[in-house]
This record gives sequence, structure tokens and C-alpha cells, in this order.
Amino acid sequence: MKTQAQLIAKFGDPYKNRLAFEKTWMILWEVPQDIREAIPAMPKKIYLNRLILIPLQTTLRKLISIGVHAEIVSYDGCFNIRSKRGSSGISTHAWAIAIDLNAALNPFRGKVTWSDEFVQVWRDIGWICGADWSAASKDGMHFQWENF
Ligand SMILES: [Zn+2]
Repeated sequence: MKTQAQLIAKFGDPYKNRLAFEKTWMILWEVPQDIREAIPAMPKKIYLNRLILIPLQTTLRKLISIGVHAEIVSYDGCFNIRSKRGSSGISTHAWAIAIDLNAALNPFRGKVTWSDEFVQVWRDIGWICGADWSAASKDGMHFQWENF
């Protein structure tokens, strides 16, 4: 995983330069109709880091194609300038390179309800899955993109 210093070097410090960060990196993605029809939990628009748009779209379509998309019952956010849960570091949500899904079913340090097939799609495309983290930081709702 990238360090906080590496992420700040790439995107800047969102606490200090929020507007510059948003102008350079953030876009409002209109979620395609085919994805919204298959996964009604997805919102019409997601404000995200442009670097995750293609991977996210690819991942959602792959989930649909193998028939595990119905596991997604809630979309729980992407961009949020905040600290990590249980830590003083900056969350990757502050750079909008992570999304949370099914938060109520997959709470921080709690159980993970995804099927293996579902999580494997995210891994194969290159996401870091909070479901794979050790017990102290396990975060099943969390999918993070760092391939840049
Ligand atoms: Zn998260």
C-alpha cells in the first residue's frame, strides 16, 4: 500500500489544499444506466477521483457479468476528508480513491458478508480490499484503488 507521504506527493494534502485537489482530480461521474439498472443501490452520480472511474466501472460490470452484483445493497460513500477509522492517519477517502459498500453489513473490525467470488473480482482488477486486512484493521465495506 502507498504511504500517506506518497499519496500527499501525488494528490496534495486535502486538508490544506482542498479546492486545488478537487479541481485537479475530482469529477462527477454519471453512473451508466446499465449499471444502475442492475445495481439499484448505486447512486445516479458519484463524485470521485478521476483515476478510479474506469476501474470502478470495469469492476461493477464484471460483478454483473458473473452474477454477484446483487450482493451490493448499499452505496456508502467515496469522497470524505477525514482520518482513518481507528487511526490518526488520513483516510484514502480524503482523496476519493476508495469506496464503501454495504457498510451496515460489513462494519469496521466486524464480519465480512461478501462471497469469495465477489471480493476476488475486486482483487483481480487491482483493488485493495479491506476484507483482506488483519482483524485490527479489517474493513469489509472498503475497496481502495492505488494503481497509479
Ligand atoms: Zn472505506
